[in-house]
Amino acid sequence: MPEFEFLQYETHDEGRIVRILLDRPETKNAQHRGLLVELDEAFKIAEFDDTCRVVILGGTGDLFSSGHDLGSKEALDDRANHPTWKGNGGTREGAEMIMLQEWHYFFQNTLRWRNLRKITVAQVQGTVFAAGLMLMWACDLIVASDTTYFADVVGTRLGMCGVEYFGHPWEFGPRKAKELLLTGDAITVEEAKDLGMVSKIFPAEELSDQTLEFARRIAKTPTMAALLIKESVNQTVDNQGFYNSLNACFTMHELNHSHWAWVHDDNFPAGRPGDDGVLDWRQKIPTYVADPYTVEGPVTSRGKAE
Ligand code: ZN
Repeated sequence: MPEFEFLQYETHDEGRIVRILLDRPETKNAQHRGLLVELDEAFKIAEFDDTCRVVILGGTGDLFSSGHDLGSKEALDDRANHPTWKGNGGTREGAEMIMLQEWHYFFQNTLRWRNLRKITVAQVQGTVFAAGLMLMWACDLIVASDTTYFADVVGTRLGMCGVEYFGHPWEFGPRKAKELLLTGDAITVEEAKDLGMVSKIFPAEELSDQTLEFARRIAKTPTMAALLIKESVNQTVDNQGFYNSLNACFTMHELNHSHWAWVHDDNFPAGRPGDDGVLDWRQKIPTYVADPYTVEGPVTSRGKAE
């Protein structure tokens, strides 16, 4: 069984099913470089293993992933010391540095997981905000606990046009994507299911077991058929423009970083509370559910970082 510092790697049913769990509960599974690099290794191990048919991606604790880690001590140490900053653009300057690093560690890795030669199931709970969405969207199917909320708050809190892997219009639909990004509002798990983003809703206490049962059903499908089903759908949306749109929107994301770096004396590449007109993500500012008839009041259990 592979050992990781920031993940748990489980095998079930003689290895036919692998479950990878993000395991930084003290930061609500915020994604820092160490975790993302380990996640790439874990997916590669599962992909190499011909016994494995289905990979479940989940998170320990009460929240799947709070998004990119923007401020924990580990993340700051990582920024200074992780070997991945010694190359892949990490030693370059300005927009070139940010664009190359984000291309490797936020964009292409997510795309690689989306194209994994196994069927993948995201198992999510709590609030899935911003970069939490990217990880989840990379999977073929998404199942969620009955108390899950989804939002991308980077527009309202960081002055950014969404996350690096811009799946929003494909997952929410074009108008809903605009509404959610422009307001920072959340949707409930029921609404996410109505939109087709979530396949199954399970009671929170049964999420782990029921996801495994669901994965077992999928693992019965012959592997060649399963892969070609996945590829038929993925190649359909690629031909509809999914892949090219992701590339275009990644470029716009980098333009957005460059804008903020240009207007800030210290070149900080995102909006800040105050003059930039964004909310302070460090404070637990409530996120409201887009449809007040479904749930009243704010979603307050948001993670430490977006
Ligand atoms: Zn970015």
